[in-house]
Order: sequence, then C-alpha cells, then structure tokens
Amino acid sequence: MRDDAPNSWESRADAFSLYGFTDLPSVHRRGAVVLTHGTGPYVYDVHGRAYLDANSGLWNMVAGFDHPGLIEAAKAQYDRFPGYHAFFGRMSDQTVMLSEKLVEVSPFDRGRVFYTNSGSEANDTMVKILWFLGAAEGHPERRKIITRVNSYHGVTAVSASMTGKPYNSLFGLPLPGFIHVGCPHYWRFGQEGESEAAFTQRLARELEATIIKEGPETIAGFFAEPVMGAGGVIPPSEGYFQAIQPVLKRYGIPLIADEVICGFGRTGNTWGCQTYDFVPDAIISSKNITAGFFPMGAVILGAELSDRVQAAAEAVEEFPHGFTASGHPVGCAIALKAIDVVMNEGLAENVKRLTPKFEAGLAHLAEHPNIGEWRGKGLMGALEAVKDKATKTPFPGDLSVSERIANTCTDHGLICRPLGQSIVLCPPFIMTEAQMDEMFDKLGAALKQVFAEVA
Ligand code: PLP
Repeated sequence: MRDDAPNSWESRADAFSLYGFTDLPSVHRRGAVVLTHGTGPYVYDVHGRAYLDANSGLWNMVAGFDHPGLIEAAKAQYDRFPGYHAFFGRMSDQTVMLSEKLVEVSPFDRGRVFYTNSGSEANDTMVKILWFLGAAEGHPERRKIITRVNSYHGVTAVSASMTGKPYNSLFGLPLPGFIHVGCPHYWRFGQEGESEAAFTQRLARELEATIIKEGPETIAGFFAEPVMGAGGVIPPSEGYFQAIQPVLKRYGIPLIADEVICGFGRTGNTWGCQTYDFVPDAIISSKNITAGFFPMGAVILGAELSDRVQAAAEAVEEFPHGFTASGHPVGCAIALKAIDVVMNEGLAENVKRLTPKFEAGLAHLAEHPNIGEWRGKGLMGALEAVKDKATKTPFPGDLSVSERIANTCTDHGLICRPLGQSIVLCPPFIMTEAQMDEMFDKLGAALKQVFAEVA
C-alpha cells in the first residue's frame, strides 16, 4: 500500500514520472509498485515484497529475471565492444551473425533483417519500407495500410494508427490511410446462429469488400498478429489466415505477421504463423527476441520483399532509414543467446509441456458464472469477465472489474494484467508446475473476492 511520505518511493515516482498506460486514480490511491530486482519468474519491490509475474514483464522476460547465460552474454559483449551503429556500410560482427540466425530460424529460405529499438519502430519501419517500395516501383499511390479492430501494433504515430483501439482518437489518430477491418473474435462478434467457419468467411468477404472500396492499387499492406495480444489474447477464428491470405494474394497485398508477442515460442512454435500454418511476406519481431534483456525490434523480410527492397535501394543508392542503435552489438549478442536459450535450452519444450496444464487452469477458472470465456494459445491466455454468462453482458465499465481483480492479485503477490474486461496471463517460459499452481490459486482467490463484491 502507498506510503505518502514525500520522500517515499511512491511519492517520488508520482512526482517525477509520467506513467504509460496506467490507471492514474488507482495508482494515486494504491501507489506505484517500485521494483528493485527479480529471480526466476519473481520480482521484488522496494519494500521487499515478492510478486510472481504472470505477465513476464510485458510478455518479454520469457527466461525470467536473472538468467545467468543472458547476463553473461551481455557482460561479455560490453567488455568486447559495447556499442556501434549499422549505418554507412558498417555493422558489428554480432549484427551480421544475428541476421543470419534470424533468417535461418524464419519461415523464409532467404531474406534480410532491419533492426530497430522496439516493436513500434519495427512496424513503423515496415510501413516505410512498403511506402519506399511503392514510390520506387512507380506506384506512389500504394500507401494505405489495413489492420484489424482491437489489434495492437505500437505507439509511434504510424504504429498507433495501425492499432485498432479507440484511445488513439485522444491523439487525433489514426492518420489518413489507416483502415481497420473486423476482429476475428468469434465468441464476441459471431452472429446468432452463425458457425465459426461462416464467421471467418464473413470476415474474408468484408476484407475483400474493403480492398475493392478503397481501391486495390492504393493498398500497401495488411498487418496481423497471429494471436492478438494486447487486444485481450484473441486467437484467430477457425481457418482465418487460410481464408484471408488468398484474398490478399488476389490483389498483390503483402501479409505482414506482427510476431512481437507470438515470436520465439509464445504460442508453442518459434512463430505464431507456424502455429496457424501460414507463411507471411515479412515478420515483425521484438520482445522475446532478447528475452527482454535489451530493447530491440527487427523487420525480417521474406525473399521477395527483400529482393524488391534491395533493388529499390540500389536504384537510389541507399535505403535512407535507420536508428542510432539499430543492430546494437550488445543487443545482438543478447538476442543470439536468447534465441539459443529459448530454442535449445528447454524453454520452448517447457511451453509445450505446460500448455495443457495452463489451459486446464484457465478452463477451471472459467467455470465461474462471471467468466464468460477463456481463450489462449501456448502460454498466452485470458479470462473474460461478464456480468451475465448466458447473454455475454459485460460488467459496467465504471466497476473496473478487471482492474480490481488485477489489484487484488497484486495485493496477494501476483502480477497479472487487466485488458478491457479480461485478465491476461502470459507467464515466463521457465515457469514450473508449482509456480503455475501458485498463479492459478492466487488468481482464483482474487476472482472469488472481486466477483463477490460486484456481482
Ligand atoms: N506489436 C505488438 C503485437 C505488440 O504487442 C507490441 C507491444 O506490446 C508492439 C507491436 C509494440 O512494441 P513496443 O512496445 O516494443 O514498441
């Protein structure tokens, strides 16, 4: 609970920091949780309290908070070469090796990688690549970007315009030319009597109608998260990517998989597109790429886009884009280690091993009359709170039910995240069965307590 003394951590956090995506009345009442360190999946605050972080930080600390191999890789690279850029034909050896590795583990037989500091910048960069291509190939009108309602692609002006969330109107976004089509959440948006397969077909028809209405020659690309993450963990409806990809192909529109959350193991395979059996034209990666130990994003272009961008850049003699820290050697050394840790040190297997237990835990909690739906894939899952299960009626927004559940969990030493009316869980890949039991026990107790208060 908050310590109001002017020199307390809570007061100092309030006085000097602008919180991102934070329910301010709640943090003013309860105080910020100021953290000092972590071990395994636990983090510790300035008062010495431990929290099991069921959100892996922000989906990204998949190897936990003190993985010795990752810390060693960072230290060794800081000793060897602590920083460089990737401009003017220069880049670190680590950058060269990471690009080779990323193409090797991608679903593409050939490709090229461009580095950023975040997922937002990677999406932004991909949009600029598509615009660059349009201009270079004689189609400067090919600029519009299609994404989905409820999607999350980031916070820069472009990636926020891609994001299908209403709060972006607070910034006067989206920018012109960013179009949002339907969200593939069957439980919420399927119509009375409509099968899931028919729902999917309706979305594919809606996409095609939008493309035709906007003018196919004006569309630069379609971006989709394999499983929508910050939309509340929404796996695609049955056959979704198989239904929309032919539509996009018909009009020559690239499909970009935003794998910022799904990439590197979250859904049980290296990529979410593998889990849903489609091959995109490019992949956006971030978060798990360094297991959260360094800020990094990457655009991984498949062979065709890679060749076209290279040709377009050759024609004007350069690709005029880049960040000071693109391909940072320490970030690249950590990413090389993180990929090895996830793919070769049993983490990916642990995701597969734990998934049935994770799903069973979610399904068990969803038996509560105020949980309308559980959903998930691999180690990402959500429980959606409802006032009335039969009619799927949500609780009134002013009850802040999911925030209350998350706050109650925090009081009991569990960090999980409210998203809309859902509670989201995305535990680190190193979680043990006992820690998973602890997670569900604490969440179950919080659900009981809050539903008893509001129902
Ligand atoms: N894309 C997806 C799917 C994300 O979930 C996120 C962040 O959560 C982003 C992009 C933006 O990444 P960043 O916060 O690193 O800018």
